[in-house]
Amino acid sequence: MEPLTDPFGRLHDYIRISVTDRCNLRCIYCMPAEGMQFQPQDEILSYEEITAVVEALAPLGLSKVRLTGGEPLVRKDLEQLVAMIAAIPGIDDISLTTNGLMLPAKALLLKQAGLSRVNISLDSLKQDRFSMITRGGDVAKVLKGIEAAEAAGLSPIKLNVVLMKGINDDEIKDFISLTLNSPLNVRFIEYMPIGSASDSWRQTYLPLETVVEACTAAGWETEEADMPSGNGPSQNRRVVGARGTFGLIHPVSEHFCDNCNRLRLTADGHIKACLYWADEYNVRPLVQDPAAVQALFRKALGNKPHNHEMALALEKKAQSHTPTARRMSQIGG
Ligand code: SAM
Ligand code: SF4
Repeated sequence: MEPLTDPFGRLHDYIRISVTDRCNLRCIYCMPAEGMQFQPQDEILSYEEITAVVEALAPLGLSKVRLTGGEPLVRKDLEQLVAMIAAIPGIDDISLTTNGLMLPAKALLLKQAGLSRVNISLDSLKQDRFSMITRGGDVAKVLKGIEAAEAAGLSPIKLNVVLMKGINDDEIKDFISLTLNSPLNVRFIEYMPIGSASDSWRQTYLPLETVVEACTAAGWETEEADMPSGNGPSQNRRVVGARGTFGLIHPVSEHFCDNCNRLRLTADGHIKACLYWADEYNVRPLVQDPAAVQALFRKALGNKPHNHEMALALEKKAQSHTPTARRMSQIGG
């Protein structure tokens, strides 16, 4: 069968599936403090429906699945979904993006069900600041989650750090220090204007050259580093002699769309071929019909623009399409 390609010849073998738009935190860059309207449970894809979508796409070359949200671990018995996806022939890599709070209870169950690895979001190592960014989170619980993921053998563990000017940019050195004696991959991510390109985003957005400058200031010599799996758009480096690595993901200042291999599925069953634009295709009514699911994904890919235009949003310039109105928690990152 024809693989999943778009008009620019990009092969799509990876899907990010949001399993819920709900979350046990309220990070300042992701969700409003109040007034978020969550999708009713009966509008969310069931585990059977999600599995049916992945089953339809696997014969077209889909091999990698990431579960995300909202917070995916607030969805009941997520390990059951992991096991259902792991049983699909052709799927060889299942990963999870999580805030880590529930990993102490879930890491082993997820590993046993077939989860390969986790990305854990952690934007500050200081409790008062972490609580401010997440609106009430406890950093000690995330650190316990990282330990639980390590103990369960979920590897490699990646830490996602959204870098924000004046909020956590003085912690770059502390985060990279975590990689000196531990095989972690710390990924610094530029703050993206998803859901709205507001002035507060422009004031807080920080290009990632800052990370390189912080290494120089710390007197660290760094070298390029290869990652065993799931390299994605991250440019990885290592402090010479360190066990772990750190990566830079700069979607805004330097988009990585040329090599985009991702599809996205929202919790309410909408295909998004690009994180940034508003275009969506509702696959939910079709999930029982694999040929129709395949056709809709091909249609979504057929209309996939070459790249997002976050850099134009930074400059307040006109864009070629309409950006999505969804918040990041409603897409999955
Ligand atoms: N709740 C999980 C978590 O926090 O890891 C998974 C969902 S969260 C939406 C996925 C990732 O998107 C997280 O690493 C989060 O930091 C990132 N994210 C959310 N909003 C963002 C934004 N505006 N810019 C850049 N990254 C963002
Ligand atoms: Fe929740 Fe993750 Fe969004 Fe934070 S980034 S509010 S943990 S979904």
